[in-house]
Amino acid sequence: LLGPDGSLAVTIFEEITTLANRHGAINLGQGFPDEDGPAELGRIAQDAIANGNNQYAPGKGMPDLRAAVAEHQERFYGLTPDPETEIIITTGATEAIASAILSLTGPGDEVLTFEPFYDSYGAMIGLSGAKHTTAALLAPDFMPDLATLEDGFSPRTKMVIVNNPHNPTGAMFPVEVLSEVVRLAIKYDAVILTDEVYEHLTFGPRHIPVATLPGAADRTLTVSSAGKTFSFTGWKIGWLSGPARLVAAARTVKQFLTYSSGTPFQTAIAAGLRMDESFFTDAAATLRRKRDILSEGLRAAGLDVLPSQGTYFINADTAGLGITDATGLARRLPGLIGVAAIPVPVFCHPDGARRTRSLLRFAFCKKEELLEQAAGRLATLK
Ligand code: PMP
Ligand code: GLN
Repeated sequence: LLGPDGSLAVTIFEEITTLANRHGAINLGQGFPDEDGPAELGRIAQDAIANGNNQYAPGKGMPDLRAAVAEHQERFYGLTPDPETEIIITTGATEAIASAILSLTGPGDEVLTFEPFYDSYGAMIGLSGAKHTTAALLAPDFMPDLATLEDGFSPRTKMVIVNNPHNPTGAMFPVEVLSEVVRLAIKYDAVILTDEVYEHLTFGPRHIPVATLPGAADRTLTVSSAGKTFSFTGWKIGWLSGPARLVAAARTVKQFLTYSSGTPFQTAIAAGLRMDESFFTDAAATLRRKRDILSEGLRAAGLDVLPSQGTYFINADTAGLGITDATGLARRLPGLIGVAAIPVPVFCHPDGARRTRSLLRFAFCKKEELLEQAAGRLATLK
């Protein structure tokens, strides 16, 4: 966990947000919305605090929230996890990911991720002592090459991590890709850890949970989070679900990371998960409009915009502007034009970083006028 100069690493999100704040830049870097989620959920959390629900929740999560997670999975996907043994509540998806990786993998094991990969996977695989192997997702649509995917597996592969919809690319994997991952996980007897925090933030294709695919359920741990779905990223309420033996293993680690997670927020998120279908579809439609505004603006600014089917994010290629170092550019942009973005190479090992060296990731979960303003500022780079 050291940076390139040997100093202790600070995450790219922290680094770019600090730069954005220093320069008063429009922050299209770190993925957090600039408007709060449903006011009624805020009131439920406030009432829970006022009514004295301020002590430790049970380690595996409040029973009502575990029940709500189970109901949500049944309502949207027809899955029926047992809230007692097959679901735990975590401190954000981040802790679910950490607990799963640290409990199930270690030295001598390999963990396969797609590349680019969300930063915490690399850090946690590193802490576990396992070897991190990757399978490339190639621009413009960021799909893996199914003909060579098996090359990433070996008899040592203990876990394969899927992230769908995918951060940082905005890709959504079709059933053929997900089924091939499941087939190979079965063949090599690997656990599938699937990070589906953007399950409701999709702009066309329907989200397909890995756990619904034939043969997947008894080796799949699914991670999700309230942060993205309900626009409360600071509440840090996430969850992990899957077969009892894998959830129990993750829980063993979880209890020594944080023991339990914010009690009043759990009450509110239980209500959130029970909201009408229209809440979920409206949130996705609002975000889709923001995606369209930003992609139009980026295109007008002379950037080559890559497709985004879900998440908060869209990628743009700066090569057309003669730029080959997106990481250097991302560090200069806040001071230069008052816009912050995340460089895609930071989500890669060295080969992948070369492939993605001119790509920037922009977050569009921001007010529409800010997206337009940011695009206007980027146009001055031409
Ligand atoms: N996984 C992915 C793919 C993410 O983008 C994020 C960031 N929201 C997380 C996990 C972490 O989620 P949380 O804030 O709930 O810990
Ligand atoms: N998930 C957020 C992103 O991808 C960042 C969360 C964090 O700062 N760790 O931008």
